[in-house]
Amino acid sequence: MASEKIIDGKAFAAALRGRIATGVAAFKAQTGRAPGLAVVLVGEDPASAVYVRSKGKACREVGMESFEHRLPADTTQETLIELVEQLNDNPAVDGILVQLPLPDGLDDKKVIDMIDPDKDVDGFHPVNAGRLAIGANALTPCTPLGSLMLLKDRIGDLSGKEAVVIGRSNIVGKPMAQLLIQENATVTLAHSRTVDLPAVIRRADIVVAAVGRPNMVRGDWLKPGAVVIDVGINRIASDEPGKTRLVGDVAFDEAESVAGAITPVPGGVGPMTIAVLLRNTLVAASRREGLADPEGL
Ligand code: NDP
Repeated sequence: MASEKIIDGKAFAAALRGRIATGVAAFKAQTGRAPGLAVVLVGEDPASAVYVRSKGKACREVGMESFEHRLPADTTQETLIELVEQLNDNPAVDGILVQLPLPDGLDDKKVIDMIDPDKDVDGFHPVNAGRLAIGANALTPCTPLGSLMLLKDRIGDLSGKEAVVIGRSNIVGKPMAQLLIQENATVTLAHSRTVDLPAVIRRADIVVAAVGRPNMVRGDWLKPGAVVIDVGINRIASDEPGKTRLVGDVAFDEAESVAGAITPVPGGVGPMTIAVLLRNTLVAASRREGLADPEGL
């Protein structure tokens, strides 16, 4: 039987996708068109190809239009930027996602900089990072926004909570800290130079681990009752010879007995990312049409 401590990201994401489908139907009724998401994949990286396929499928399932662009690994920066510019100009496209990492020789940052910030559904453009920092209407990176949704669903008001985010990447850690600040939490952003990380974490009512180190956060680092969001996705050798399995950044079995609630890996934050991508696409489409942001998302 599933423990009540376990935060079921899969179920939450499924319910969110249901609300998005309702929002998409309303958008269609108002505008006569479906929101459109363009996903660009350069090269043959098998993991990226799987992500791109699942994004397309998830789009169609909520009634959105999906445009897939596959370019060979030897695509030049100019060709890729030309495609991004075409997508910026295409009125049927509300969201543009360039699957990262790009193959060697292409500059992720330069390509992201070319995406129209109002179509930047990954929320990686510097304009959206700036909007998030000043509390303006940003398109917010999907994984941290999904993590925040899970936290609010479990805790309710985050005001005054001590939150520790481990990891300061532009994709997860920093936007996560910004979101928690907006929710009036007291936020510490820890990283590889943090001194005595266990002591820092022991203060926290909320721990978000986004490091990429298997099982790094131990059970005895946690304050009893803390809510733990494990963003990490790490593949390690399994007990079965020749097989691998996914684990998070938090030693789950130890942490589960101390934490008030915890996301599993897989099945916690992971499923939220694509659901929030769809949410961001619907938000981007609504804003581009001059409509209010959809409610309940
Ligand atoms: P990055 O590698 O960009 O950042 C890792 C961060 O962890 C850095 O800020 C680094 O600090 C910090 N760090 C490294 N070692 C330590 C340590 N010993 N103690 C404290 N902090 C440390 O990773 P991402 O943010 O891109 O991703 C983090 C994890 O989340 C990965 O496992 C990734 O796979 C996963 N992920 C999951 C997603 C999902 O669920 N859909 C989406 C995105 C990521 P410093 O800055 O000092 O180097």
